[in-house]
Amino acid sequence: MTKERLITGKTKLLGVIGHPVEHSLSPAMHNAAIAHLGLDYVYLPFPIAPQNLEIAIAGLAAIGVVGFSVTIPHKQAIMPLLSEITPLAQAIGAVNTVSRQNNQWVGTNTDIEGFIAPLQTTYKQDWSQKVAVILGNGGAARAVVAGCHQLGFAKIHVVGRNVQRLQEFGNSWNNSPISENLQVHQWEELPKLIPQANLLVNTTPIGMYPKVNESPLSVEEIANLPKGAIAYDLIYIPKPTQFLEQAEKQGAIAIDGLEMLVQQGVAALKIWLQQETVPVEVMRQALQKHLGLG
Ligand code: NAP
Repeated sequence: MTKERLITGKTKLLGVIGHPVEHSLSPAMHNAAIAHLGLDYVYLPFPIAPQNLEIAIAGLAAIGVVGFSVTIPHKQAIMPLLSEITPLAQAIGAVNTVSRQNNQWVGTNTDIEGFIAPLQTTYKQDWSQKVAVILGNGGAARAVVAGCHQLGFAKIHVVGRNVQRLQEFGNSWNNSPISENLQVHQWEELPKLIPQANLLVNTTPIGMYPKVNESPLSVEEIANLPKGAIAYDLIYIPKPTQFLEQAEKQGAIAIDGLEMLVQQGVAALKIWLQQETVPVEVMRQALQKHLGLG
């Protein structure tokens, strides 16, 4: 029998801000962890339109919110509204986790930790001679680039379709040590890059539900992926994506986006609760159940 969870005047508030926020998976994941730990917290969805962001952040402070997740479209817009931003979040240029510390909002980004988690545990190896090829140059690609740099990749190639956005992406790292091993390329250069890839990451939404029959790469392109390379798709539904299915057929190791989602949440909850131990398996199962995978 599950213990009844009572919300009282003392219950501490956590949440997620976004627009829209109805489809966020974070409430299911974090409330499962809170219930498992028996803590007097609740994690709520806060739908906040872009024009209300500033007033909403002040409101969250006024009602004593302990911390919150940040999702689309606020990940960059929130930055000037915070008192402090960790160097990691500054390097990426986006915040996904905010906590209240000494009456001030402090922003960080746990997507890097989420992304690298499987590469540091299950698939741990020496990455210093390895090559990463990243498809897409949007928000998530920034965390992936920073993560690959943190793991020590020798070369990081980012491939995009829009020349201007690609150049801006490349230039945005100019003041960072990351720029030393980073190169940007147009999509047409992929046939030359794929045979070099030890890690191939899809950060584009191609193949995401409901367009489950699409893949960022053709069968011919993916056939040149070296055997034993890792194909990593940030998409978590469907499981597996076309991209991962094709890569596995070529003898690649497949990692989907679910673990990244779990681990970025784990890292955020540790910050809010100021404790090192959170129930990772409970959070993973809550997500799987919510996504109809469990
Ligand atoms: P985003 O900022 O919109 O970036 C998407 C990137 O994909 C852009 O570079 C875009 O290129 C490119 N792209 C889109 N359609 C394309 C196409 N048909 N051909 C080539 N490139 C295309 O989105 P995001 O926030 O980075 O998210 C990207 C994906 O990662 C989503 O599927 C999201 O669900 C997933 N994600 C997963 C996690 C996780 O925890 N697992 C975390 C974050 C994101 P243009 O700039 O030319 O449009």
